[in-house]
Amino acid sequence: MKSEDSPMESSICDRAASMCHMAHEHHDHDGHDHEHGDEHSDIGPMDLRVRALETVLTQKGYIDPVALDVLIDTYQTRIGPRNGARVVARAWVDADFADWLARDATAAIASLGFTGRQGEHMAAVFNDADQHHMVVCTLCSCYPWPVLGLPPTWYKSAPYRSRAVRDPRGVLAEFGVQLPASTAIRVWDSTAELRYLVIPRRPEGTEDWSEEALAELVTRDSMIGTGLARQPGAAR
Ligand code: FE
Repeated sequence: MKSEDSPMESSICDRAASMCHMAHEHHDHDGHDHEHGDEHSDIGPMDLRVRALETVLTQKGYIDPVALDVLIDTYQTRIGPRNGARVVARAWVDADFADWLARDATAAIASLGFTGRQGEHMAAVFNDADQHHMVVCTLCSCYPWPVLGLPPTWYKSAPYRSRAVRDPRGVLAEFGVQLPASTAIRVWDSTAELRYLVIPRRPEGTEDWSEEALAELVTRDSMIGTGLARQPGAAR
């Protein structure tokens, strides 16, 4: 059972996360306008509201856009999935660490300095040829912030939350992941009490790679289980 204050806490966190996430997307959009034919074609009503809010707060001097950028960058790259990627890379090169991660993920992850809210109780699940793990929060959007940063919008969406359980193979296909029929797919329901980190399979041909180089192959989605680690030489 959840503790009494969990739903409220989650709801506040989720609101904060979606605010940050929208702000993040807004900046992302600005950085990638060249990829769109019409630079205003995909700004939704919520993005417009966030943009208006940011403008007003900045003009009134309540927020500093530079500080906002630092905050977003912190969740996107520092607290974000790069932390999880380092955990995965360490597990790939260090069998003792991988064992520790399997036995006590919270402690093993904390040993690399990744602790904090929404990551107090972690479990690591390891993909192999026989079994592929995928994570969802069917109740809301529980997500391991210290290792993955802010949850992507789709993770919080109702279709993902319901279909990940009913039709995981179909959902994976939509993410471009085709697994052999002989690979079982196991779906883990994340909660406020326990959050999961998927350890993707180490790509072949990386036997002599450094831990740092390996970490670059670990994508956010591969640690949720909706993707695979990048193949060496594959486009980012
Ligand atoms: Fe949740």
